[in-house]
Amino acid sequence: RGAEVCVRLGDGCGAFGLRNSVSIGGRQVGSEPWSPSSWRQRPAHQLPVYPDKDQLALVEAGLRTLPGLVTPKSIRSLHEHLAAACHGEAFVIQGGDCAETFSSRTLEYNISLYHLLAAQAAILSSTGSKRRIVRIGRIAGQFAKPRSAPVDADGLPSFRGDIVHSAAPNGRARTPDPQRLLQAYRHASASLEHLRVLEHLHASPMESLRILSEKLAWDSVVDSNLVKAIQNLVQGIDEEIIVMSSTGRHVTSIDTNVIENVFTSHEALLLPYEEGLVRLADWSPSGNAHTLEHLNRDAGSPIDLLSAPQYYATSAHFLWIGERTRQIDGAHVEFLRGVSNPIGVKLSGNATLEQVFALAEILNPANTPGRLTLITRMGVDALQRKLPPLMAAVKRSGLAVVWMCDPMHANTQSVRDKNGNSFKTRDCEQVLDEMRLFFEITAAEGVPAGGIHLEMSGEAVTECLGGATRTAVHDLARAYHSACDPRLNYAQALMLTLALKDSLQW
Ligand code: PEP
Ligand code: MN
Repeated sequence: RGAEVCVRLGDGCGAFGLRNSVSIGGRQVGSEPWSPSSWRQRPAHQLPVYPDKDQLALVEAGLRTLPGLVTPKSIRSLHEHLAAACHGEAFVIQGGDCAETFSSRTLEYNISLYHLLAAQAAILSSTGSKRRIVRIGRIAGQFAKPRSAPVDADGLPSFRGDIVHSAAPNGRARTPDPQRLLQAYRHASASLEHLRVLEHLHASPMESLRILSEKLAWDSVVDSNLVKAIQNLVQGIDEEIIVMSSTGRHVTSIDTNVIENVFTSHEALLLPYEEGLVRLADWSPSGNAHTLEHLNRDAGSPIDLLSAPQYYATSAHFLWIGERTRQIDGAHVEFLRGVSNPIGVKLSGNATLEQVFALAEILNPANTPGRLTLITRMGVDALQRKLPPLMAAVKRSGLAVVWMCDPMHANTQSVRDKNGNSFKTRDCEQVLDEMRLFFEITAAEGVPAGGIHLEMSGEAVTECLGGATRTAVHDLARAYHSACDPRLNYAQALMLTLALKDSLQW
């Protein structure tokens, strides 16, 4: 298959002639009929084994009767924004928890993440560029985790997320419980409700930037340069607004018109949950797709009628396949092949050109812009070596993809504080270096940088080292709340956003 791809790349054919199937070990992958359950015929990695299969089946049937969480119409609206990102007309800021939990503090987490994403969008819209800023939260469904090892340091089954089992350190708690799929649905539904209320109450991202500016000024551990930079931004906008109101002209440098509403995303890992929320949308004039609208989210964006009904994963607008589950003939690729959402695939430094072409062929056979996002998570060394030739080959072949950078997942390290506590952490300098290198490479290759994918919290957590809070190893124990990987705190994330604004060619 690899050779076939190379022949086609070499023969100078313009558009990539995808065939929607790839031969692996004599078997055609991607050519069989798809259904929401066809993934069950494929090898599935990282799925929990439920001891009570009957109860699982009952829960799955229950999920199929519930309303979809997001509407096909809003999914298509994100698809359009990602198509714009493909052409350099939009930039995506995607971020949130590594693992959301079923915590009673979910509302507070959601509010703080909402303000952080909004403030980041406000910063990025102050460049004078007309590029749309698209916010995607790792929110309202990021409950399932792939794990590198099946058992943890205590010899217990590794924690795979609240949607699977409890994190409590005992064997009974770690037994996969199907009822948690329904609990996840309720939590996701509540989080979506929070987002809609927040969008209603704080429609202006400027207001969020102002709120965070005040929070930074009160936070004694935050670098004063960051406080000043954000205050200057807010002050500049205030002055412009005064000028604007006295002259009646629109002069503010923050153009909130370019900022889109918040969309949701998560890793499409727990396939029984995902399958249970697949819905068929009929786009004909009398079809159900037009009646399903969430508030006025999509007002003003006309959606074309489509002749055939389409399947949508309604658990989120955007779903991605993780580095550990992107096997070409695997269950996760099979599931996402048939839903019409925009989707992503994470790529570590181990990803090959052949794998990327095979994934594009199966997941985006019509080469539709915005359908497929490639999210690199390679670390500086691999990115430097692997990304330029990969990007160049993808560009030469005419493949339409959004290139996004996850500067977090290849920079995880383990440290021990002087009390002997061990922490997974990340150094902000390494995160920044990887992000900057990604932008250098995209600029050199003449490919639009489509966005950035971060693990971050809107709260003052102490999980990553350095950055705007100069967090040291001895600080980690103070506010380490992540249920899985370490997140940037709100100040570290804002500092990174300022660096992003300065290092990207807008
Ligand atoms: C994640 O995004 O939390 C994750 C597990 O990523 P990856 O698949 O890139 O390791
Ligand atoms: Mn993670």
